[in-house]
Amino acid sequence: MEPQGLRFSLSSFEYFLLKKAKYLLCAGDIPSGGKRTPKRYRYAVSHFNVEAEKATERKLPRRPVIYDTTLRDGEQMVGVRFTQAQKLDIARGLAKIGVHQIEAGFPAVSDEELRAIKAIVKEGLGPKILVLSRILKEDIDAAVDSGADMVMLFVATSDIHLKHKLHMTRGQVRQMLAEALEHARSRGIEFSFTPEDATRSDWGFMETLFRKAEEAGASRLGIADTTGSATPEATALVIRKLKRISKLPLSVHMHNDFGLALANALAGFREGATHINASVSGIGERAGNVPLEQLVGAVQVLYGIDMGIDMEGLTNLSHLVCRYAKVQMAPHAPIVGRNAFAHESGIHVAAVLKDPSTYEPIPPECVGNERRICFGKHSGRTAVRKKLEERGLVKDDAFVEKVLRKVKARGEENGGVSEAEFWEIVQGLG
Ligand code: MN
Repeated sequence: MEPQGLRFSLSSFEYFLLKKAKYLLCAGDIPSGGKRTPKRYRYAVSHFNVEAEKATERKLPRRPVIYDTTLRDGEQMVGVRFTQAQKLDIARGLAKIGVHQIEAGFPAVSDEELRAIKAIVKEGLGPKILVLSRILKEDIDAAVDSGADMVMLFVATSDIHLKHKLHMTRGQVRQMLAEALEHARSRGIEFSFTPEDATRSDWGFMETLFRKAEEAGASRLGIADTTGSATPEATALVIRKLKRISKLPLSVHMHNDFGLALANALAGFREGATHINASVSGIGERAGNVPLEQLVGAVQVLYGIDMGIDMEGLTNLSHLVCRYAKVQMAPHAPIVGRNAFAHESGIHVAAVLKDPSTYEPIPPECVGNERRICFGKHSGRTAVRKKLEERGLVKDDAFVEKVLRKVKARGEENGGVSEAEFWEIVQGLG
């Protein structure tokens, strides 16, 4: 079951504004009963977000459905291969934080892949399970065999792909799609249709395929920015065109080749796309996909649309997936990175120690991350004094100054001063 779109009307958004845009309901723990215990966190994000919403003519879209592709596009990342146990773990993790739909794999890839999908289906985790399929009978049969709830049919539609990859004419693709749609319908499985490389495809050609898919009974249509080469404006334009010809739910699968996957996904969402594809930590082909944690943060915090996703689980889930994928998470990864709530420079630390919202738009606990006060060449005396006080060491200004000088010198040499090194310095000074 897809969650019913909860219309977040402007008035409720204004209500949120009246609350000074500082407090927003955030998904808390999800006990086994499935009932969320909401917690309130203090957010300090730009008030212009709300003003901008009010200034646009369109209403905020319905809350989006997130479908996660960590197990499909994520596993297609160079060097990544998940074991069945790891896939199950990831699927459980996604379900636990409340991700609405899970793209569990590509059944036609291998018997092992098919087995893993079946195992995920068997878990009955709650989220709808989706699988990918080319427009081939055997792929569709494998998808049906997997027990998944929905099969996502795709075929490349750009001339580049037709010529150099498929070696097919547009007419042949049209014919092949018609047969696949008929087969999917005859197998009785729910199906969607997405042109691969949509953002480099001829609109007129795609339009004929979209119409065919809808006539055949597709339950949703999607676009794929396979090469991550569209701008947010282009993404919005394509969704606008699609909305003009279909009332079906629309999905966006975006790539991050220019670092715009998230911006593009949000642009598509603004324009009316209802289903957004993401992967944990953005893992995926080449530069990857829309990072789930960033998407959830942007939608739930910046746009203030509660999708029912438990943000507190995001950091652990990201670390789990990076570990399984053998991917080094960037220290400055938004939301979940080790440095996402870390501070070193004297001015920042002094301010954060007084009120974290000075340099943190959201508290680290709300995404399961933690604040770190670090030492290095940019450190200031407030951090040093605070650190000493934590151990009950009350020292005079002269001593603090001496420690600070050494800390800064060590930081200048090494780029950072560890906890152990800090106390070494203190000890050395008696
Ligand atoms: Mn992809």
